[in-house]
Amino acid sequence: MTSSPRPARIAILGSTGSIGRQALEVVRALPDRLEVVALAAGSDRETVLAQAQDLGVEVVGIGEADAVGLAGWEQADVVLNAIVGAAGLRASVAALEAGKVLALANKESLVAGGDVCARAAAEGGGTIVPVDSEHAALAQALSGVDRAAVGRIIITASGGPFRARADLSDVTPQEALAHPTWSMGPKITVDSATLMNKGLEVIEAHHLFDLAYDQIDVVVHPQSVVHGIVELVDGTMLMQAAPTDMRIPIQAALTYPHRLRADWGSFDPVALGRLEFDPVDRRRFPALDLAYDAGRRGGSFPAALNAANEVAVRGFLDGRLGFPDIWRVVGTVLDAHEGTPVLDVDEVMQVDAWARSQALRAIDELEVPV
Ligand code: NAD
Ligand code: MG
Repeated sequence: MTSSPRPARIAILGSTGSIGRQALEVVRALPDRLEVVALAAGSDRETVLAQAQDLGVEVVGIGEADAVGLAGWEQADVVLNAIVGAAGLRASVAALEAGKVLALANKESLVAGGDVCARAAAEGGGTIVPVDSEHAALAQALSGVDRAAVGRIIITASGGPFRARADLSDVTPQEALAHPTWSMGPKITVDSATLMNKGLEVIEAHHLFDLAYDQIDVVVHPQSVVHGIVELVDGTMLMQAAPTDMRIPIQAALTYPHRLRADWGSFDPVALGRLEFDPVDRRRFPALDLAYDAGRRGGSFPAALNAANEVAVRGFLDGRLGFPDIWRVVGTVLDAHEGTPVLDVDEVMQVDAWARSQALRAIDELEVPV
């Protein structure tokens, strides 16, 4: 073994959120290997300042513009993008253009701007290391595998809280926010309940692994222990399993390409006993096919899907929409969308703004006065 390297210098964008806070736990557990040099959050100034004080971090940002600046900051080697929503896209692009290792939790960056991120990486020399557990799993299973040997990949889904609920019409925000296996921020928790999260993850996987949509499948796996499966052309299946704990993929991304000892739990296959795999009920969860469809159409469709979904989820959480109205609003916006190529971030954000205004209009039309 060679002498240990200097600590990786990390900028954490979205440090006050679910992923951001878990990342700080990982940093505290590995003080010799990880050093936080900058923190940024959306609005919660007090929390981010307390985090900075606690860790001795001197640089703190608030809001998207600060996050973008910190993403390209020369003092950082690794940028963890744990911002929620398309608000994270410009920061991802800035990190990739500046040649950083981008530990990417913000899947919306790749959904809305997958091609734009790829170009930024090619031009700036940045690398994306996925934090999303399924993609972290798939990246591990794919490492060292000849591309021509890959038949398809399978993304697992817990199925969310309504896996076995026949009628989704009267789901409340409170019910949707109670996820059976993962504890996450509110937006992704609702996305997990509609299965839009899996749809976003399919598009994310398409960009990360450069696979056709026909090569990307989703199965329900209620135990959330197997996170991803790679099927090789000879029938071999490489399954990655790990405890249901985001600190594991966060640590793997922050310490990439190294593997360090961790204390985030382990699972006993015997105690677990049973791993189940079921098909997705695509009739009850139409959001998944909306995402596949937007992904296949390409261009600006995924950005429109993502923005409409963000607005619809907000509308649902604010009590303006019923649960099934989330995918109805997204479907309405996609039906009205005339796709365009999106060549740079500004074009993506124009589509994003258009889809948001269309979604708000659709909500106004759906809203039943009480
Ligand atoms: P969260 O809502 O808990 O936290 C979001 C963070 O982003 C907060 O720190 C917030 O202040 C910050 N933020 C919001 N808008 C911002 C803006 N305009 N500029 C700068 N910062 C802004 O969300 P989360 O659950 O931590 O999820 C973050 C991202 O990680 C999402 O893209 C989500 O899909 C992805 N992800 C989360 C999990 C999980 O377990 N929570 C798992 C996989 C992927
Ligand atoms: Mg995931």
